[in-house]
Amino acid sequence: MNTRDVQAALLSLGYSLTIDGVAGPKTKTAVQAFQRGRGLAADGIVGPQTVKALQAAVAEKTEQKVELGVVPAGWMPAARLERIIVHWTAGSHRASGLDRSHYHILIEADGKLVRGTPSIAANGVGASGTRANHTLNCNTGSIGVALCCMAGAVESPFQAGSAPMTAAQWKALPPVLADLCRRYSIPATPKTVLSHAEVQGTLGIKQRGKWDISRLAFDPTVVGARACGDIFRSETLRFHHS
Ligand SMILES: [Zn+2]
Repeated sequence: MNTRDVQAALLSLGYSLTIDGVAGPKTKTAVQAFQRGRGLAADGIVGPQTVKALQAAVAEKTEQKVELGVVPAGWMPAARLERIIVHWTAGSHRASGLDRSHYHILIEADGKLVRGTPSIAANGVGASGTRANHTLNCNTGSIGVALCCMAGAVESPFQAGSAPMTAAQWKALPPVLADLCRRYSIPATPKTVLSHAEVQGTLGIKQRGKWDISRLAFDPTVVGARACGDIFRSETLRFHHS
């Protein structure tokens, strides 16, 4: 770590200084404060121990940011959920009242999250109440997340219809899945975090030709339910530390 690296690390940890590459009095004061906070000798010298502590502190801070999440805590009440099923609404780029009645969390075209009407808790194992019916014969224990898109889409030959899936909503999906995985202790495996299009093949529950999500309108090189599912699962793992 050179002086600039040390200054950048201290700045990201909330110490007040400027990154100028000069180890002046302000930098020394910040180093000493950091050392005191970590139980090190406060000599203001950045030796191997202080470097190690700085790197660890920055890593912790990065992890905390990820831990903060994107799904409001109030949307995730206590319940026993076993899997997350990802859909598209086959509607417009915005969440309609009808869309909201079928899913727990919806992602609009610009990546904005909208809460569905039924509570996630209603789909919990052993729960009662008005649940979200999003997947035929597979709603108990299943959280339904939907991207608002793909009205009038055709599977083959592929046509994205009047509301093609956007890169922004696709990108917004993995952090949502990671929050749900963490909250409900669901591992991001092919059987537990999957698209509607994967349900029949992976869980053996017939779905009458549902193909959400087996195409990405903004990236024609990705074809097939498994290919799409593998992308959101691996991206989810990047956010999900457990
Ligand atoms: Zn679906």
